[in-house]
Amino acid sequence: MIIKTVGFILRAIKFRESDLILTVLSRDYGKIALIAKGARRPESKFGAALDLLTLSELVFYDAENLKLLKEASIIEDYRAIKSDYERLTLALHTVHLLNQLVEEHHPDRAVFAFLHDFLGELGSVKNLDLVAVAVRLKLMRALGIAPRMGSCARGGHKLTNEFWFSPQSGGFVCEACHQAGDTRLSPRLAQNLKMILGLSWGKLDRLALAEDEIKLAQGVLDEFMGFHLKAPQKST
Ligand SMILES: [Zn+2]
Repeated sequence: MIIKTVGFILRAIKFRESDLILTVLSRDYGKIALIAKGARRPESKFGAALDLLTLSELVFYDAENLKLLKEASIIEDYRAIKSDYERLTLALHTVHLLNQLVEEHHPDRAVFAFLHDFLGELGSVKNLDLVAVAVRLKLMRALGIAPRMGSCARGGHKLTNEFWFSPQSGGFVCEACHQAGDTRLSPRLAQNLKMILGLSWGKLDRLALAEDEIKLAQGVLDEFMGFHLKAPQKST
């Protein structure tokens, strides 16, 4: 069966003499692995359409245990990201994270839209540290695993003006429930984290967070994501 879709190139590993095995986040089939024969030859017909982070139109032959790429053409190459080391680093880190968290063959429009929006805006956003916090929150929301921030994640209580973050409990916890090991968040940081999910990438610059608050937020969110990454996943 010949299939046509569009997808982002998440990963490429060398295979045999001149082939590549690609991990692709496709719009219609979720995460899939494709074999691109001859892709590492200089005169390969695929050209730059298989470069990491590129959004390409892909035509592949789908057999039971093998998906063989036939044609690929670039839709968007995100040049503004690839020519900027810091933006490129953040984009590659995000794609790596997404690849770890997403299972194969589970088409998910929310995850595809997350990556499409993110790469579309990353070339022009200003505060990259803040964007790195937003990446974690927005990706987790797209995956349906966002931390609980509207009420106490440990006891369900209403949150007042004291906040702790508990990766184990899955989000914010209240003053009565917090335990040793939870991270205290300033009310401003807690409010800003909640606001991030309601803001588009271009509007994140409206938030004013200090560098140490951003580092703290990245730390607790990474710890939170660590719990989900420990779950057994098929790796490709
Ligand atoms: Zn509580």
